[in-house]
Amino acid sequence: MSSSETLGFVGNTLLRDSAERDRNLIERHRADPEARTVAIAGDIPILRVNGVRATALLPLADLERAPVRHEQAFLGTLQGRPVFAVLLEAASIDAFKQDAAFQPIDLRSIAVQGLVPGDELGILAEAKALLFWHSRHRFCPNCGAPTALSCAGFRRDCASCKTQHFPRTDPVAIMLVHRDGRCLLGRQERFVPNMYSCLAGFIEPGETIEDAVRRETFEEAGVRVGGVRYLASQPWPFPSSLMIGCLGEALSDEITLDRDELEDGRWFSRQEVLSMIERRHPDGLSTPPPMAIADFLIRSWVEGAAGG
Ligand SMILES: [Zn+2]
Repeated sequence: MSSSETLGFVGNTLLRDSAERDRNLIERHRADPEARTVAIAGDIPILRVNGVRATALLPLADLERAPVRHEQAFLGTLQGRPVFAVLLEAASIDAFKQDAAFQPIDLRSIAVQGLVPGDELGILAEAKALLFWHSRHRFCPNCGAPTALSCAGFRRDCASCKTQHFPRTDPVAIMLVHRDGRCLLGRQERFVPNMYSCLAGFIEPGETIEDAVRRETFEEAGVRVGGVRYLASQPWPFPSSLMIGCLGEALSDEITLDRDELEDGRWFSRQEVLSMIERRHPDGLSTPPPMAIADFLIRSWVEGAAGG
């Protein structure tokens, strides 16, 4: 049976210490020689390479190569070892590129190629989403004054109007819609050629997950959905989403595509989807890679584990 624990970015074994976050956490742990840090230059993580293995957890001394640090957050502890996340300026990639001990590489590639241990992907997702938020919230949305990092990197405070700002996570509903042994998959123009995936869309303010599944499916494909069931979720740090994976029961068959959203969309039988997962479809059609929650939703339905 498919397990959501193998999804990219899901494994994160950090103890977050979220109840104790204060200003002094960073100072207190920075002196620990065992401390490690995720370093992200612009939006590119820096890996440390040792033979065929790579890690995203760098000794703090490695940061000396990049003198300009924009923000530093304390993420928590990993087996007792403090773990930080540091945002470097994009140009500092060059300081690491020159040394074969380092590999600056984008997070999608790290996940797809499996370059770091699985539980480091979750830490990278946390670091990337959090640092992205810091980079976009240097000024108070309420009064426009500069904001300052607080709570060890999990809050920003405005000294002028005293507003506290918290990191945001953007919920996205992603759904495998099915009816009578077939499922609805679509493709966006930006997808790799021949790949079909689940429909998805941002959940709007004031909307339930279930209603977002129904609304997005109707808007994109003209198909009405009745029952909706939650299956699994996945952090998706591009830049800061949480994918909420659901199964939806369609009430109708006829598809009316919104061509602005989807290049194509149609019903697929279990057998056809299985051939796509196994990469033996006669027309070369495929489904998303195993690191994506769409793969988990599709497999769950094909295997009958999800019902319907
Ligand atoms: Zn303010």
